Amino acid sequence: MKQALDSKVLSVLEDKIQLIKTEGGAIYLVGPIKLPVNLYGETVEFKWYCWLNCKEVTEDFERIIDKLSSANLAEFQQSSVLVYGDFEYAEDAIIRMHSICHTGDIFGSKRCDCGYQLKKSMKMIQEHGTGALFYLANHEGRGIGLFSKAMAYVLQENGYDTVEANEGLGFVDDSRNYSDAIQVLKAIRQKPVTLMTNNPKKLNALKEAGLEVSGRQPLWGDVSEFNEKYLQTKIKKSGHLEEEDEGTCPND
Ligand SMILES: [Zn+2]
Repeated sequence: MKQALDSKVLSVLEDKIQLIKTEGGAIYLVGPIKLPVNLYGETVEFKWYCWLNCKEVTEDFERIIDKLSSANLAEFQQSSVLVYGDFEYAEDAIIRMHSICHTGDIFGSKRCDCGYQLKKSMKMIQEHGTGALFYLANHEGRGIGLFSKAMAYVLQENGYDTVEANEGLGFVDDSRNYSDAIQVLKAIRQKPVTLMTNNPKKLNALKEAGLEVSGRQPLWGDVSEFNEKYLQTKIKKSGHLEEEDEGTCPND
């Protein structure tokens, strides 16, 4: 039989869990947790929060904690957010809604510019003094998933562009949803934010989903022979603005 949760464990965790009610259930947000990060060779201290979506809505967190060991969470990705500075109260904060990119963020793939954008946005947040980087785990390949993204890359190696490849596999060009991230943002900050993106569609999608945006900051860079075509597709087909800075994944 499973052991009852140690009361000490529960009391430590209870202070660091927030319940955020959603339309379909709840988000459980855990944090802040100190996270010193190696950013271009310098140690920068961020605060980290991670969240989990559940159908069950309860303030009895023991019920949620009890389920963790059998929930097989490693099979599913969870999203999280890195926060820097006085994010809750500062007047002016910049945020990045970063879509997970296994190949770009982890392997440093140059087929897209996600890895570059990830690090660059963290640096911009640090330089700005206050901000947050949302790392959205269900956004791989603009929401098509890693395996489908591999298939899309095969098509791209055979002459398809990013949009054609995703559509060829039966996906809509962009199926990403930001509602969880926006609810988490609202739980940790009430004031408007400046959004780092080159993608006006993303800015509009976020505004429509209820994000209070006070401005947009572009994020281009790292153009190479490997991602030039991808970046051009972003500009021509996906409505990205040119001459500014952002990345090359189907992702952004
Ligand atoms: Zn990417």
